[in-house]
Amino acid sequence: MPHAYVTLVTNADYAMGAQALVRSLKLSGTGADIVVLHTGGVASGALRPLAALGARLVEAELLPTSAAFNERHQRAKLHADAPFTKGNKPSFHTPLDNFAKLRLWQLTDYERVVFIDADALVLRNIDRLFSYPEFSAAPNVYESLADFHRLNSGVFVARPCEKTYDDMLAMLDRPDAFWRRTDQTFLQAFFPDWHGLPVFFNMLQYVWFNMPELWDWKSVSVLHYQYEKPWERDHPKAEKLRPLIDLWHAYHWGEGIPDIDRLENPAGAT
Ligand code: UDP
Ligand code: MN
Repeated sequence: MPHAYVTLVTNADYAMGAQALVRSLKLSGTGADIVVLHTGGVASGALRPLAALGARLVEAELLPTSAAFNERHQRAKLHADAPFTKGNKPSFHTPLDNFAKLRLWQLTDYERVVFIDADALVLRNIDRLFSYPEFSAAPNVYESLADFHRLNSGVFVARPCEKTYDDMLAMLDRPDAFWRRTDQTFLQAFFPDWHGLPVFFNMLQYVWFNMPELWDWKSVSVLHYQYEKPWERDHPKAEKLRPLIDLWHAYHWGEGIPDIDRLENPAGAT
């Protein structure tokens, strides 16, 4: 099987996220493998539902980065040196863990992979992404036009290759390197000529209230819950995001999943 969707799970919270994602991928009717890269510390009870949904579990360790690198990217330090001013990261989010995404370049059984964050849902079939080139990603749009300069690393197309992986590690852990938005900042630097995907392949939840005119349920293929997670209890933006949170829970439980084309767009959509 030359194609796979890949996600990453380093703790039980993201395993919960992956459960909704894997179910959504299955429902999209994909013919590709679904791989969950997980670290050794994730409880087997948290992983079992993913296997039951048909995912292939692949254990992968965090990257062998230096102690100094790990120190610079440690949660409290990163939050102090590069504060998040637009939204909140949940307490179970460890920035250093993000870099383990790069392990997917070692999955060389696959000719192409589409990486998707564990906090996303695939709402319609996106298998055509496997014929897109490395490196393809959607822009990090959730506030303004200026967002189009940057990519969001929650969804991307890649070609596994050991040489690429080795080159990445060499560039990643250079003396004093500080990647303020972790893998996202790194991938943009490693692939300066990245190919842009339409925003609908990685629709960020804040678009719902910041740029409602961009929303169209008939076009959204991947919905990505960046910042606060839909399974967090009563987070500060929960009321504003209620319809999106309800949708996530439907996929998580596998009950009451609506026809996406018939959902109501936010007030202000055109
Ligand atoms: N992740 C993880 N454990 C962590 C942090 C991140 O497994 O402690 C994985 C998970 O797949 C997650 C992705 O890395 O979806 C990126 O983190 P997140 O989605 O929280 O970042 P955001 O989309 O809010 O920028
Ligand atoms: Mn995410």
